[in-house]
Amino acid sequence: MPQNGPKYVGRFAPSPSGPLHIGSLLAALASYLDAKAHCGTWLLRIEDIDPPREEQGAAQSIIDSLRCHGLIWDGEISWQHQHSHAFEQTLETLLHADELFQCSCSRRQLARNNGLHQRPCIAPLNPDSFALRLKADQREIHFIDRLQGPQHEHMSNAVGDTILKRRDGLYAYQLAVVVDDISSGITDIVRGVDLLDSTARQIYLQQKLSAPTPRYLHIPVLTDTSGDKLSKQRAAPALDNNLSVSNIRRCLQHLGQPTPPASLKNCEDILHWATAHWRVEDIPAQTHILA
Ligand code: GLU
Repeated sequence: MPQNGPKYVGRFAPSPSGPLHIGSLLAALASYLDAKAHCGTWLLRIEDIDPPREEQGAAQSIIDSLRCHGLIWDGEISWQHQHSHAFEQTLETLLHADELFQCSCSRRQLARNNGLHQRPCIAPLNPDSFALRLKADQREIHFIDRLQGPQHEHMSNAVGDTILKRRDGLYAYQLAVVVDDISSGITDIVRGVDLLDSTARQIYLQQKLSAPTPRYLHIPVLTDTSGDKLSKQRAAPALDNNLSVSNIRRCLQHLGQPTPPASLKNCEDILHWATAHWRVEDIPAQTHILA
């Protein structure tokens, strides 16, 4: 941690597509402990910009579960659906800078190109139905993940032109996450390794907006016995809030952290101890761990 950089600001940013499960608790815990170990702040942002994928009551259930596990955020909860104005303004800025274009190519059409969008478009523009894409240029994005090591990706060859506003009028995750991380002054992003391949395009967008790039730490994701990531979409079982202490202990073990003394009986004391003993270098440097 640099001594004279900005004060650490981290966040947990769940999408309310289902209740918290052990895999999302792992990400919440890692980002919490890393923030607290750096005497930083830890923000909570509910990424509720995709109503078709939301489950009713999930946001409240996530909030309740975090509380029951002692993972208390700093400040007010941020609700992404309230930030449309900032998303529109950013699109406006990019449009004026000639960084965006309208596109009616379908996912199926792009499958021929491994899902990659490279200009020119395959489909003719349909003025009634188009997405806004960010033009990829020839640059290569480099960053060093604190756990996964050096990463690099060529924008136009490997990432392509990213959708920022979808054809159905919804804001894309890539736009919303970058705009909100910038406006909250996030310095450190700790999240599951499944988002590692979104990172280059997020850094690219930060660069286009002349914003600083945070540090990144992508932790392993938990999988089921068939090797699939536990996820809300795959209906991973909700956490039992009555087992919060053992849930936290289990996550610490998955993160390779030392075992808190058995004398510690509640989440607050365990989290306090785990913060003091947090060692990123002990997190298994792998991408998947069997839950
Ligand atoms: N909302 C995303 C999710 O629940 C996480 C976003 C992020 O951490 O960048 O998978």
